[in-house]
Amino acid sequence: MLSDIHILLTYQCTFECDHCFLYSSPFAEGTMTLRQIRRVLDESRKIGSVKWIYFEGGEPFLFYPLLFEGVKTARNMGFQVGIVTNSYWAISAEDAELWLRPLHELGLDELSISDDAFHYREEDNSAKRALSAAHKLGLQTSSISIQKPFAEALPGQGQDKGVPVIGGGAMFKGRAVDKLTAGLPRRPWYKLIECPHEELQSPSRVHVDPYGHIHTCQGISIGNMWQTPLSMLVQEYKVQSHPICDPLVKKGPVALSKQYDVAHEKEYIDECHFCYLVRRALIDRFPTYLAPRQVYGYEANK
Ligand code: SF4
Repeated sequence: MLSDIHILLTYQCTFECDHCFLYSSPFAEGTMTLRQIRRVLDESRKIGSVKWIYFEGGEPFLFYPLLFEGVKTARNMGFQVGIVTNSYWAISAEDAELWLRPLHELGLDELSISDDAFHYREEDNSAKRALSAAHKLGLQTSSISIQKPFAEALPGQGQDKGVPVIGGGAMFKGRAVDKLTAGLPRRPWYKLIECPHEELQSPSRVHVDPYGHIHTCQGISIGNMWQTPLSMLVQEYKVQSHPICDPLVKKGPVALSKQYDVAHEKEYIDECHFCYLVRRALIDRFPTYLAPRQVYGYEANK
């Protein structure tokens, strides 16, 4: 049952991280308007089961008045509200509090902060300042810490014995596929027979982007809510009718590549690495389901 709507307020970000699975950057296009945010919230209420609204990006604090109004409206509608940020704005302890206090006063429920070496190398950094300001205000926080991927161990039992484990927490989709895969251990393609991270059959969360795409995983759309209302798209979603999610549910990226006869390598790092590259190869064949193009590293065309 769908409980969380993640609003990708903007694809723009202050950073251009190697591990970003949305290909965000300071130059990325696509930001929601206030009217569009209201539309997402109204539709989220109609769905009935949605409890949480998250504002994320890109970097949502880049559009602070918009973020503020979005949080306010969502709270007034009775949703629990979270924000995901890289906290670039926390340039001092005092400033961190200045940015957070108004959101705290609106009743913000959770602040999730990217706190890792991709974003910050020095000890005293804005993630730490944002976390301590949030704690001072009594805001609930969580940290997202992604490290450069590495081959962690060769453990395993039974038929998985010797399977390399990739540490660091990065997901191999988006820019990570183009920037972080070199030199990492790989597994045979025919063993990648599931989707390990998303509930494609009956999603408990979806991401809504500024172009209206409803993502079940980054770059897999179940429809466009600027054309068909979100509540209707969610109600009518059936995985069997979705040309990308259906094979992924049945037998992961192996089924996706077989179903559409996509040429592939002999080995991939993991399921997402294989899945993302098959999807990128299919993008012109399924432009409404594999969107937006910029999430696949191509020029934005919405
Ligand atoms: S296997 Fe594909 S659909 Fe599943 S989480 Fe990985 S990239 Fe997303």
